[in-house]
Amino acid sequence: MEKQMVKITSCEVTDCAYNKHNACHTLAITVGGPSDPCPSCDTYVHASQRAGIVDVQGGIGACKVESCKLNSSLECTASSVTIGKHESHPDCLTFTPR
Ligand code: SF4
Ligand code: SF4
Repeated sequence: MEKQMVKITSCEVTDCAYNKHNACHTLAITVGGPSDPCPSCDTYVHASQRAGIVDVQGGIGACKVESCKLNSSLECTASSVTIGKHESHPDCLTFTPR
């Protein structure tokens, strides 16, 4: 069966250009990075210009957080995720340590 993209149910990072009404509106975000200690949203962008597509509910494209139990082959297997603030950056709050 074809895998469906994992959807972002909410994102509280309202200063991101892709955020509107606590929802993400880009097709797919990337989470984490090789030198990133956090499961952060790598797609976050702070800009005065709004971005994304209003009718689109954001999803998880790739996730590089191998330390998450819901990660398989660098893909997210959660049923859905939420994104929130951690200190001054956005993190995946659905992260579950192995
Ligand atoms: S999930 Fe990432 S790209 Fe989407 S609105 Fe939140 S911070 Fe921005
Ligand atoms: S739940 Fe885990 S695998 Fe899915 S995006 Fe978040 S950190 Fe990555």
